[in-house]
Amino acid sequence: MKRSIRLAEAPPRLGARIAERTAYAGGLYRIRFTPEAPFAFRPGDCVGVYGPKGNVSRPYSLSGGTDDTELELLIRRIPGGRISDWLYTLPIGTRLEISPPFGWFHPGEAAHPHQVWFATGSGVAPFLSALRSGGQHPLQARWGVRSVLDLEGIDGPFERFVSRGEPGGHRAGRVTDDLDTVRVGPEVHYYLCGLDAMIEEVASMLAERGVGEDRIHRECFFQAQAS
Ligand SMILES: Cc1cc2nc3c(=O)[nH]c(=O)nc-3n(C[C@H](O)[C@H](O)[C@H](O)COP(=O)(O)OP(=O)(O)OC[C@H]3O[C@@H](n4cnc5c(N)ncnc54)[C@H](O)[C@@H]3O)c2cc1C
Repeated sequence: MKRSIRLAEAPPRLGARIAERTAYAGGLYRIRFTPEAPFAFRPGDCVGVYGPKGNVSRPYSLSGGTDDTELELLIRRIPGGRISDWLYTLPIGTRLEISPPFGWFHPGEAAHPHQVWFATGSGVAPFLSALRSGGQHPLQARWGVRSVLDLEGIDGPFERFVSRGEPGGHRAGRVTDDLDTVRVGPEVHYYLCGLDAMIEEVASMLAERGVGEDRIHRECFFQAQAS
């Protein structure tokens, strides 16, 4: 008997044009796209961005508000990176392809009124989206970066930690310093985004303090050995 194999269908792709790009001295950049069709997403959703030949894609978290007319991403430029470096060099107006939004990490949603956020580097993107979409403000939010230059152009209610830097409007150190000052309560949900090492360290601390897995939400962008 002949067996037929059903291949999973590739998700549809959407066209979008680069409308604007702002580079920051620390290596992060914001890029805005005008989608060719109406585009709805939840704060925390990602899109896949396809590369020049259309056969490679990387996920990026949307950092803009859900009512914005343009889509925004906040990206760490990795020299030689197939997508992050390429996207950085494309002229304004270039058309590229993105996937529909997808994701499982949704900070700021009203279902969890008490939230604590942790981000490293470009892992602040989903939290920016939540804030710009009018979502729930956190009880406490920490954002860690390597250089003070990474803080440029990004606002929000974050306690900022700079691991390689001079003190001045931020804390010198790591986002995982003094974890005993993090608010822990039976109704609090924790959202952790960015480097895997930070996520695991904070999650272990929370588990030791009795926080259940159902209240720890993780989105890993980068692995420590790759960065
Ligand atoms: C769910 C999800 C959401 C994400 N959202 C974002 C986002 O909003 N913003 C964002 O900037 N990234 C985000 N990322 C990471 C992103 O998808 C890419 O992995 C990243 O941009 C590198 O892709 P690339 O094609 O440029 O580099 P690649 O061509 O894949 O890698 C090139 C080289 O760089 C190394 N490398 C990889 N990561 C790093 C690093 N952090 N530092 C130094 N070297 C590295 C690799 O080991 C490799 O040798 C997300 C990842 C996931 C899984």
